[in-house]
Amino acid sequence: AASGEESDVVVIGGGPGGYVAAIKAAQMGLKTTCIEKRGTLGGTCLNVGCIPSKALLHSSHMYHEAENSFAHHGVKFSNLEIDLPAMMAQKDKAVAGLTKGIEGLFKKNKVDYVKGSGKFVSPSEVSVDLIDGGSTTVKGKNIIIATGSDVKSLPGITIDEKKVVSSTGALALTEIPKKLVVIGAGYIGLEMGSVWNRLGSEVTVVEFAPDIVPSMDGEIRKQFQRMLEKQQMKFMLKTKVVGVDTSGSGVKLTVEPAAGGEQTVLEADIVLVSAGRTPYTAGLGLDTIGVETDKGGRILVDKRFMTNVNGVYAIGDAIPGPMLAHKAEEDGVACVEFIAGKEGHVDYDTVPGVVYTHPEVASVGKTEEQVKASGVPYQVGKFPLLANSRAKAIDDAEGLVKVVSEKETDRILGVHIMAPNAGEIIHEAVLALQYGASSEDVARTCHAHPTVSEALKEACMQTYSKAIHI
Ligand code: FAD
Repeated sequence: AASGEESDVVVIGGGPGGYVAAIKAAQMGLKTTCIEKRGTLGGTCLNVGCIPSKALLHSSHMYHEAENSFAHHGVKFSNLEIDLPAMMAQKDKAVAGLTKGIEGLFKKNKVDYVKGSGKFVSPSEVSVDLIDGGSTTVKGKNIIIATGSDVKSLPGITIDEKKVVSSTGALALTEIPKKLVVIGAGYIGLEMGSVWNRLGSEVTVVEFAPDIVPSMDGEIRKQFQRMLEKQQMKFMLKTKVVGVDTSGSGVKLTVEPAAGGEQTVLEADIVLVSAGRTPYTAGLGLDTIGVETDKGGRILVDKRFMTNVNGVYAIGDAIPGPMLAHKAEEDGVACVEFIAGKEGHVDYDTVPGVVYTHPEVASVGKTEEQVKASGVPYQVGKFPLLANSRAKAIDDAEGLVKVVSEKETDRILGVHIMAPNAGEIIHEAVLALQYGASSEDVARTCHAHPTVSEALKEACMQTYSKAIHI
């Protein structure tokens, strides 16, 4: 919108939360402006997150399969090579195509796109420093903060994106590091660690906590860690990094047990810091209009995604809840529906989580540990991939499916899957949870044969009866 012209909805940030909110608002007939400072749409997810990481995970998986599995399938060749620039170029092409696609959707839906950095002047006015120079003021009846999150560093560690990189740097290395140390065993660290591990790096993951991916069901997590170890990833759990020295040709990392004790030095070519992400609200002028945040800097909102300031909303990674792209998108749609005077709804209890390693690990709902702690009597159904015909047929049978249901009603409380394509299979479980299905409902639903999804059906049979194939 030109200076002075008022929009119904102004969205600050063009990530999956912001761009989806903007398109939805425009589709609902609201005059909409989206401000993005990056120069491209799609936010963290599309530019330096979900999409480029999945591109590299796929490319590196292809190489790894070619190196380790093709021969068992009778596919032989000589001279297998990695062309890293070509791999990066395919990733960049995918990203560029998708960001342009969103620009196209903005045009189609008549969302006004302002390229620049926004800052609140008042609860209904945002001044924008334009990327191309100069500034403008955008006015809105409703303003949605969708500024997302940024990499969190650790005390005493400076990310230079050369030797000490964040996920952003790890997505754009120009050489395959001989030794890569990953600080933090969350899903981003494990995904990026997997990429470089498959391409030949020696990968060591250092984690302060006693476990990798703490949100994961314990039983699945153990198998997952074993699987990663089989793929040659090394883990140093309950370990803290106390010093990083980049003065030499590589990086020297001093670590010690989390509880204190003897220090050791790890050498690496590259160190990836993946110790979490933090809400990004710097320079946004939240103080100017008095928007409340919690201790972690997350913007506090009510059920309608409104902050304590009337007419100012917030969604996505900038607010509490799982920091995931699909959650940000759901927030965006619901927030706009509320603004338009309709009902919106996001159920944070049924947001799936996926780790895109191979096999993938996907889950929805509660872990067994959480159900146990809640005191609700429950039952567990499990089915190993080894007994699934499709997984055996394709020689990709590592993993299991685990279903936790309420003892009394058999209502599904949580589903955890480690399997090839678990990230696709999980949606059957998400739907089941969303509709309050019992595990018997899923077990009695006809599943196509031979599919890995049958493992979910058989795991469900195990809760109230018996599976056929074990
Ligand atoms: P963001 O995507 O962070 O977008 C916010 C945008 O706002 C940014 O583009 C920023 O430039 C802009 N902005 C900030 N301040 C201003 C301002 N003042 N003015 C104008 N613009 C501003 N999630 C998944 O669900 N699946 C995955 O596989 C996955 N993989 C990931 C892999 C990596 C390596 C990383 C880092 C993240 C991954 N995520 C994944 C998380 C996902 O990227 C985020 O949850 C998601 O991007 C959050 O969306 P958002 O719209 O809230 O914020």
